[in-house]
Amino acid sequence: MKFSQRLIEWCEGVKRDLPWRHTSDPYRILVSEVMLQQTRASVVIPYYERFLASYPNAAALAAAPESELLAMWSGLGYYSRARNLQRAARDAESAFPSSYEGLRALPGVGDYTAAAVASIAFGLPHAVLDGNVVRTMARVTNDAGDVRSPAVRRRLQQAADARLDHARPGLFNQAMMELGATLCTPRKPQCLLCPVSAFCEGRKAGRQDQLPVKLGKAKPIDEAVTLLLVRRKEEALFWLRPADSARLAGFHELPEASQLPQATRGRLIGEVKHSIVNHRYTIAVYEAALAKAPPGFVWLNPAEALTQPISTIAKKALRLLSR
Ligand code: SF4
Repeated sequence: MKFSQRLIEWCEGVKRDLPWRHTSDPYRILVSEVMLQQTRASVVIPYYERFLASYPNAAALAAAPESELLAMWSGLGYYSRARNLQRAARDAESAFPSSYEGLRALPGVGDYTAAAVASIAFGLPHAVLDGNVVRTMARVTNDAGDVRSPAVRRRLQQAADARLDHARPGLFNQAMMELGATLCTPRKPQCLLCPVSAFCEGRKAGRQDQLPVKLGKAKPIDEAVTLLLVRRKEEALFWLRPADSARLAGFHELPEASQLPQATRGRLIGEVKHSIVNHRYTIAVYEAALAKAPPGFVWLNPAEALTQPISTIAKKALRLLSR
């Protein structure tokens, strides 16, 4: 039996019942793939369902007000994904692209997403290469090259292409991702349960635990941030990131202490942690008093702020109030 056949048969028996597996609508598959970048499936499910209830097709997403879209995305992070998805919907609303190249040309759609949508929605023979597939292919081919290097990734892409089931590319890709997510995991791969262990050169060499090789991983950077919660009756003071901000444009934030040197700092409300890429933030939130809001700041009820585009850090800080 071939690699792909073993893999697909195994996946048919064990695959998780995820909502995006019940559709061949390219728009819905694109939404799921974009949400799944950087976010676990269990976290994505409620967002995916709410998103499609509000924007069931590309035309509905294309017409959505940006503030509403960002509020709906709030909590998933990496908001450029939401903006790009809307730009893609605007490009695709009259005719959704049905080729790999057409999909790849949509805003925010890279090689991986184009291959996933092309194979799952249109049955086109393109193997995906995400983090799970990179890891599995490095082990299957016993490739000890640095998986951050473009040459090694090209090699692993060729290895995945060579094993692709051309009659069932979507199922093959989903099975590869499922294998990486459930058995061929970063630590302690479960080779005894693996449907393709007979084909796995890394396992035969006893090197599965040392693969994949990742050199030069950036060390996490620790940063301390102080936020101020300035109250006026039921309201708190926020600032709005300008439209040309590199990150989180149009989002509400609690002020940092350095933005309000004239504020009188009160008691510590609490601390929250937050990570963005390789930055680990420890955020101390203090009560503070201020006679007048400076220009560019707005008073908002915290409950109302949570219905607007608001950064995850500000959200976490506001949750301290309900503890
Ligand atoms: S045999 Fe082990 S290392 Fe090889 S693909 Fe399967 S789970 Fe991964």
